[in-house]
This record gives sequence, structure tokens and C-alpha cells, in this order.
Amino acid sequence: MLYLSTRGHPDRKHFCEILLEGLAPDGGLYLPESYPKVDAATLAKWRGLPYHALAFEILSLYIDDIPAEDLRAITRKTYTEEVFGTQAIVPLKQLEKGVYLEALSNGPTLAFKDMAMQLLGNLFEYELGRRGEELNILGATSGDTGSAAEYAMRGKKGVRVFMTSPHGRMSPFQQAQMFSLQDANIHNLAIEGVFDDCQDIVKAVSNDLAFKRKYRIGTVNSINWARLVAQVVYYFAGYFQATKSNDERVSFAVPSGNFGNICAGHVARMMGLPIARLVLATNENDVLDEFFRTGVYRVRGSKDTYETSSPSMDISKASNFERFVFDLLERDGAKVRYLFAEELAAKGRFDLSHAALAGREQYGFVSGKSTHADRLATIRDTFERFGTMIDTHTADGLKVAREQLQPGIPMIVLETALPIKFAATIVEALGREPDRPAKFAGIENLPKRVTVLPADAEKVKQFIAAHCA
Ligand SMILES: *Cc1c(COP(=O)(O)O)cnc(C)c1O
Repeated sequence: MLYLSTRGHPDRKHFCEILLEGLAPDGGLYLPESYPKVDAATLAKWRGLPYHALAFEILSLYIDDIPAEDLRAITRKTYTEEVFGTQAIVPLKQLEKGVYLEALSNGPTLAFKDMAMQLLGNLFEYELGRRGEELNILGATSGDTGSAAEYAMRGKKGVRVFMTSPHGRMSPFQQAQMFSLQDANIHNLAIEGVFDDCQDIVKAVSNDLAFKRKYRIGTVNSINWARLVAQVVYYFAGYFQATKSNDERVSFAVPSGNFGNICAGHVARMMGLPIARLVLATNENDVLDEFFRTGVYRVRGSKDTYETSSPSMDISKASNFERFVFDLLERDGAKVRYLFAEELAAKGRFDLSHAALAGREQYGFVSGKSTHADRLATIRDTFERFGTMIDTHTADGLKVAREQLQPGIPMIVLETALPIKFAATIVEALGREPDRPAKFAGIENLPKRVTVLPADAEKVKQFIAAHCA
């Protein structure tokens, strides 16, 4: 299996070459040359597999430069009951007839990003060890991504993490999760500024090519193909749990921000998983809902990007969306390059109304949006009727899922975080604190390991240089 860029660059690469890279050299995103097709016999064979074995089967179709036994060992060590809380790894829970929650948030940081990031940590350690190289991961986080990256990379050989976050702006629980890590290879940098300042610092450091090369600076953001392909696995696992035979279809509802999670659903569907609808849910930041309703993709400026109570979906542009547009335009790299590198850069929007219609019909996408009031109502209703507490992002997914139900087709809502991460909104909806998993009791009181720095890229560079022995 070889990988190509969505912007038409002629190079083709193997999995391990793109594993440690971010964007393709032409600024595009990597995708496989074609999607492997899974036939009925294979699907039937996979139905009974434990999660780690299913992960191995699916990843094997995309990775031809890691020996099978090594890849099997990596998936086995990644997807364990010890790390994800249950043997099923992503257990399905029925809310009412035909509506399910698939639990993706029982990993170390209680958000679905662990599903991919835990694998990435093990793949990085493996590949860096094989090459005898090191990598310094520099990132910016307002919460979920940074903590998932730190818990995935802690203690890994050859990897250091330098994670910037806006000083004093994450929830006390999120701060405790990150800052209580005592591993020598994890560095928390609290920046005196807002999230945008953190992102600007990461950009400034990455743009200093000499520094970047000397200190082997890399990232773990959601455009990484390895993260995306890891997420394909739980679409299959959810399907097998909701159905009895492979002639049934299901739909998935996905709380979306950067289009990474639902893009994995698109890949699963392209592989032949019988998915009827991919239901994309946004919050008030409705860039993607607007696209699937109107065909116009219009990115937002920072003053039109709202801070909401489902903050992990507060995006102004969706970094993985280009992958879907590439398929929508029948893999015309030149056209994708024009749209993203020129038209979007110049006008902040492009119009694909004709193709978008095809997107709905051919690729099964539908969409909707959910507001703060909807979240509160959905959290309350779900708790009152089913005794189940859901987080704010999952509430956005469930609200939109209900608008897209079809008779006889199970709807699987992806649960992307646990309510404890967003306690303030739960209290607002239910008048009580969310339950806290036992292993997180009292984490706010643990000693914290964090360095406060001014919003100054030079100071961050000095810190990195001083900590790369
Ligand atoms: C990251 C995240 C999302 C959005 O996922 P994308 O892959 O960016 O679309 C939704 N919910 C939670 C809790 C998240 O952490």
C-alpha cells in the first residue's frame, strides 16, 4: 500500500515514511492510493475477533513495512482491558430501541483521542527505535489533544513531548490530568496567553527550519494518517456489536470538529462496511454543517469562532476535510490544490454545491447542528429517561442523530468524552456533579509538573534546547 498527497504531488510513500511526517511536501494530506475492499467472507471472519486482533487485520491492509508479527504485538499491547477499562474496548450501550452509544472514551484521558493516540505512541517508539532516531513533539492544546498525546508518549523511548497550553484556562480537571504526569520525557509549558498564542508559538518554532532540524521537532496533530486509520477500527467494532449479520446496515452519528473522526467513518464505508448514513454533528461552530447543507465551505475568523460548552469542536476550519473533498472530486489533486491553496486562501470559501449533493447521495453524509440549549436538554433528557450521563460533545451527536433516524437502521452515536471532563455544564444541566471514575479521585491534589512561560517563541525554544540532553 502506497500513499499519495491530496494535492497531486507525484511522490508515493510507504506507511512508516508518512508516520513521522505531517503534511505532504506540497501542503496536501496523505491518503492511500486506493481503499482496500473488504468482502463478505472477510467481514464474517472479523465479526468474532477481539478488538486488538480486528485492529491488526485492518491495519495490515494499510501497513506493508512493519513485519506482521511486530504489528500484531503493537496492537496487542495497545488495546488492552487494563488501558481501556473493558474487554470489548469500545462497548456498545443501547439507549432505546435502535439508538446506541459506542463508548470511545474509557482510555487514560477519558476522550476518544486515546483510541488513536495510544497506538501512535507505540508506533512512534517502534519506528524511532528501528531507525535509531529521536523526536521532540511540540504541540498546542486547549485540553483533549494535549493530554491524550502526553498519556500516549509518557515513558516512551526516543520521544519527548513539549506541550503548550494557555496558562490558567483549562478546566481544573484537565490541568490536573496533564500536570500531574511526572515522567521525565513529558514537559508541560503553561503559556501566559490564550490558545491562539500557543498555536502561534508552535508555528513560529516549526517555521525556524534550522531549529526544527537540529532538535527534530515533530507534531501529533489530527492530520496524521496513522491516527485516522486507527479510528477506522472502532467503526467495524461498533457495527459488529449492533448487528447480527453482515447484510444489515447501521448509521453512525459523530460529534465533529476537525473532521478526523468522521473521516475514519468515511474510510470504513469506502472499504465496504455497510454504513447507511454518516451523520455529522457540529455545535454553534457549524462550518461543516453549512457545507453539507449548502455545498459552500466557508472558514471562519477567530472572532467568528465561538467558545462553546463542547469546546473540542470549536474549530474555524476542519483540518481533515481536504481528505473528503479529494474523494468527492474523484481524486483530482490539481483541483484540490487549487481549492485549498488558492481559492480558500484568497476568498476564505469555495463552492461545491453540485459535488456536495453527490456527497450526500454517494457517500451517505448528512449533517445537523446543536446549541448550548440543545446540549443541556439532551443531557437532561438522557439522564432522566435512561439514567445515563453523557458529556456535552456526545450530546451534540445524539441531538443530531435523532433528527436523522431511519426505520429499521440502528443509529450508533459515538461517545467522544466522559462527562467528568466537562463538569460545569453537567452541573448546569443536572444540578449535580458528574460521576468520577475511581482512578481519578483527588487528582487535583497531586503535585504538578509545569513551567510557566511568557507568550514568546524564543523562550520556548530555549526551554526545548535546555531539555534535549
Ligand atoms: C477532538 C474531539 C472531537 C472532534 O473530533 P474531530 O476528529 O476533530 O472531528 C469531538 N469530541 C471530543 C470530546 C473531542 O476530544
